[in-house]
Amino acid sequence: MKRTQFLKFMGAGLLLSSFRSRQQNENTGYILPALPYAFDALEPHIDKLTMEIHHDRHHKAYVDNLNKALPGSTKSLEELMASISTQAVAVRNNGGGHWNHSFFWQLLAPASGKQPSAALLAQIQKDFGSLDNLKSEFNKAATSRFGSGWAWLIVKDGKLTICSTPNQDNPLMDIAEVKGKPILALDVWEHAYYLKYQNKRVDYINAFWNVVNWDFVSQQFNS
Ligand code: MN
Repeated sequence: MKRTQFLKFMGAGLLLSSFRSRQQNENTGYILPALPYAFDALEPHIDKLTMEIHHDRHHKAYVDNLNKALPGSTKSLEELMASISTQAVAVRNNGGGHWNHSFFWQLLAPASGKQPSAALLAQIQKDFGSLDNLKSEFNKAATSRFGSGWAWLIVKDGKLTICSTPNQDNPLMDIAEVKGKPILALDVWEHAYYLKYQNKRVDYINAFWNVVNWDFVSQQFNS
């Protein structure tokens, strides 16, 4: 082999190996994120055992089943949500479950007495009159969602809007009845509260407000 041919051959080999390693990295699949706090950090409002089962079993199952439904997928969750109407039901349920729970863990934090940022509070006052009114509208959406689903606070056309979705659907999905950018959410599946609150979903919803991570919610509003 001539020197120039040899160099071309080596170059192709390097290109091929870097392509392979990139593919392998991308093909590790969707990953269960660690909780950003301890399992008992939200006590007494959300109990340790509920958090352990919710994160380690329920959320893990959504991730595992999404990887089974879409082996080797390199699409971001956001890309999947935006085109969910073209996907199988298993991708809608488990992809939605993965996005929703990854978002939910971040918007919770140990009770800190924190409040929305000045910019978010101004928008809340403009669209709902007061934070108390927003909470009461959100609670209605969370209480009246029949069966399993989620309540959402979203930004839609520059306005704050409250809505709810069934199952693991969310407002990022192209099939959502009300679409927008989520900034706050509440899981109202029974697995999210039944161990501590049994059938008293309202008590769980009221307790939730004590552990809202307003710093995270305000960041979502600003970004
Ligand atoms: Mn859940």
